[in-house]
Amino acid sequence: MEKKKVDKSKKDILLKKESGWLTLTPKEMKDVEALSKEYIGFLNECKTERECVNYWLKVAQKQGYKDLATTKTLKAGDKVYYINRDKNIFLAVIGKEDIKNGINLIGSHVDSPRIDLKPNPLYEDAGFALLKTHYYGGIKKYQWTTIPLEIRGVVVNSKGEKIEVSIGKDPTDPIFTITDLLPHLARKQMEKKLNDGIEGEDLNLLIGNYPDDKSKDEKIKNNMMKILNEKYGIVEADFLSSELEIVPNFEAREMGLDRSMIAGYGQDDRSCAFTSAKAIIEIENPTKTSLCILMDKEEIGSLGNTGMRSNVLDFVISELGVKLNQYEPNFLNKVYVNTKMLSADVDAAYDPTFASVSDPKNSGYLGNGIVLLKYTGGGGKYSSSEASAEFTASIRGIFDKNKVKYQSGELGKVDEGGGGTIAYIVANKGADVIDCGIPILCMHSPYEVSSKFDVFMAYRAYKVFYK
Ligand code: MN
Ligand code: MN
Repeated sequence: MEKKKVDKSKKDILLKKESGWLTLTPKEMKDVEALSKEYIGFLNECKTERECVNYWLKVAQKQGYKDLATTKTLKAGDKVYYINRDKNIFLAVIGKEDIKNGINLIGSHVDSPRIDLKPNPLYEDAGFALLKTHYYGGIKKYQWTTIPLEIRGVVVNSKGEKIEVSIGKDPTDPIFTITDLLPHLARKQMEKKLNDGIEGEDLNLLIGNYPDDKSKDEKIKNNMMKILNEKYGIVEADFLSSELEIVPNFEAREMGLDRSMIAGYGQDDRSCAFTSAKAIIEIENPTKTSLCILMDKEEIGSLGNTGMRSNVLDFVISELGVKLNQYEPNFLNKVYVNTKMLSADVDAAYDPTFASVSDPKNSGYLGNGIVLLKYTGGGGKYSSSEASAEFTASIRGIFDKNKVKYQSGELGKVDEGGGGTIAYIVANKGADVIDCGIPILCMHSPYEVSSKFDVFMAYRAYKVFYK
């Protein structure tokens, strides 16, 4: 009997780092598969921030969400959305409590590292038509050569007409690529630093080789513009007012012999955007007002009128207050100091092939559940808002009670590098914020890897946080 006691205490006092897969019931295993299937479909459908916003707008409308902009009054239980410039969606479910008691907020971002076109991209050289590009976010440039690429986005002409462009998504469409040097002639290139092997100005998208017979000069370039003009009605000057994104043409797929993982582009941070948006959509009559925000521009510093550093969140919360008839002096600050937020962004998972950059005791592992990061930043926690012990404990409490498997993590070894999320921006307003997201391998590459288990746990975590 005494021996049993010792065993039990041992079990409780030591932290275990282990796979979560064996903790699932057969019913939960089925739920994991269903969620993964839906998530893979989402990744294939949504490769730009606009597509993500549009996807969740359609889902929200189907679930009875009303447009906040045209809603006059609100009451507990109401569901509203707000669209900001087609690049952010805010989804809110009004709680029973006064909104000044704070909001349960989950924030993620739907922009992902990619390659954008320059404002004047099209040129002809040596019988090829190419597009000059400017990469967006932190990429390893060499990873984006010699892979299938597609173009998605919008062109707005000078009359203000918006034209949706998608070339490569449909299996019958052509695709594009960025060239790289053959090894036979790459002696000098291979001696360069990895960062310089492919330079920013080398990321030129190859789009054509067939000349237009009737043009006097630049026959290939002319032919490209003719094709684009016929299909989309656009002219070369329209590139200036376009947002055309070059994204990997890879399909998101199940990965591994055991099908335990998912490979796909844009999982930073669409894995957390998908799971948090799905979670709020399924919430009814919460105690506190629940808010899910899908932000843009996180990968380039959260600036601008669609980034987290804009005042749009303030605006949306103020609008909720006015329409709930709860607006009063100092309203916004009252809401923020009482608000609890999960900053839903992915974590760099431990990769045994590159083990030297991580502390194995303080890394997120694939298949071990959602990662709580008390802080991010770099150096001596520089630029991190760091969640308090009290708030971290309260989140652990919610997760423990609701069978959410979680692990703790840090973004790499001390002084190895670092990074940040949108956490500090909302923390600066007075809210309690903790980073809480899905561990990802090969982050920011054209083909990122996640675990189906962790995607499922994120969904469960976000849902119980709202409840
Ligand atoms: Mn991210
Ligand atoms: Mn990122």
